[in-house]
Amino acid sequence: MNFLQRMLMALQRFMNGRYGGFDALNFALMILYVIFCILQIFFRNPLVYILSFLPAIAFIFRMLSRNISARQRENQKFLEITSPVQKIFRKYRRRIRDGKTYKYFSCPNCHKELRVPRGRGNIEITCPHCRHHFQAKS
Ligand SMILES: [Zn+2]
Repeated sequence: MNFLQRMLMALQRFMNGRYGGFDALNFALMILYVIFCILQIFFRNPLVYILSFLPAIAFIFRMLSRNISARQRENQKFLEITSPVQKIFRKYRRRIRDGKTYKYFSCPNCHKELRVPRGRGNIEITCPHCRHHFQAKS
């Protein structure tokens, strides 16, 4: 067994029974850390420097934690709290993905989002939510 294999086995033993999960919350903590690191370039402030450690410490703590169910609960809570933000992200990702085949409108009456296939010229759209009719170019 070479040195690298021995190191990997030691690491595996060390991580055994620990959370170690790279979940949504840890991902967010990592992003937060990167943001703080970037902020440090612009604000040479000791407070920013200290604050940048908090997400890093939380990240390491969660990775090494033996209380796996508590960490899973935290992540679940985090997903619940951020679900409105995730919804907005999903919506814009879908718009970017489907932008070539669909055109997005918001209904002039109820302001709900509608989409129609592109390239059909001027069409009459009926809103499926409120039955309002309007003309639009697809
Ligand atoms: Zn409508």
